[in-house]
Amino acid sequence: MFNLEKITRTNIKALKGYSSARDEFKGVAEVYLDANENPFGTLNRYPDPKQIKVKKRLSELKNVESEQIFIGNGSDEVIDLAFRIFCEPGKDKALTFSPTYGMYDVSAAINNVELIKQPLLADFQINLNQLQPYLEMDEVKLIFICSPNNPTGNCFNDDSITYILENFNGMVIIDEAYIDFSSRASYITKLEASPNLIISQTFSKAWGLAGVRVGAAYANSEIINLYNKVKPPYNVSTLNQNAVLESLNSIAQFEINKNIIINEKEKLVKEFSTLKIVTKIYPSEANFILVEVTNANTIYSNLVEQKIITRNRNTLVANCLRITIGSAEENTKLINALKQL
Ligand SMILES: *Cc1c(COP(=O)(O)O)cnc(C)c1O
Repeated sequence: MFNLEKITRTNIKALKGYSSARDEFKGVAEVYLDANENPFGTLNRYPDPKQIKVKKRLSELKNVESEQIFIGNGSDEVIDLAFRIFCEPGKDKALTFSPTYGMYDVSAAINNVELIKQPLLADFQINLNQLQPYLEMDEVKLIFICSPNNPTGNCFNDDSITYILENFNGMVIIDEAYIDFSSRASYITKLEASPNLIISQTFSKAWGLAGVRVGAAYANSEIINLYNKVKPPYNVSTLNQNAVLESLNSIAQFEINKNIIINEKEKLVKEFSTLKIVTKIYPSEANFILVEVTNANTIYSNLVEQKIITRNRNTLVANCLRITIGSAEENTKLINALKQL
């Protein structure tokens, strides 16, 4: 049985989070002399530590309660806080499926937590048989499931994810950074049924706000309470909260841009399939394509010479480049450059 008390670090259970000036007074006052702010300027006040407006809009959009939402300084913060809340440094472990997003590794190392890297099968799906012993280890506290997965582009089978959710007594973090580009549904709808689930999403990809640094975690409110205790009190700036609110008010534009990117992806796949240097195109549920080429290092360097930067993933998947879907103009430049090779 999953037990949140049991998997939370003792010091975090005992922690009383920082209570900011704006936490203690609720309402609207005329004179604010509580936070040593400067009375002059337009960004002179501390931001809303609870990001109430952003959460309200997101709760409508995602059909969850505000209490089930954590807003982070990018989803990198969602990942880092998971280690800090659940993993005793030097003792507990986390698990991920490789190849995947590099930040799990970095965050684990920063927190002095061993990361078990379970290799994906040849079709980039999860090997449940090999996973089974880890599901039963008490010191394994976190499993990161990146779906759609970066850099492979595929989603994991629902059966595998459900099996892990139902048979693992630690926390399962499903990283849905690319979910908006995918034909698959978000696991947000599974929150009620899954007490050990955290969903991580971001404004950096489909929302086009990578420069803003805002990510979100969705989980049951007891888990979100732990996040709220551990986060720095003013972790999302006023500028960042406003940028996200503005973008949440232009859902139509979000849909238009997302569909352009998805159409451009189809176009790129067609073009790639005509190129001799491309030996395999992996199906993608994201805004990038993993392509196997005749020689990734050479082709990567040739593109760099033409001032086109792709991601060389040769060390993760032999001879593969991960290519982000750009604008129509950028994609045409890429195709023209590849045709010259
Ligand atoms: C890009 C990406 C993110 C986004 O991270 P932010 O800190 O929100 O910019 C998260 N997870 C994965 C797998 C990604 O590829």
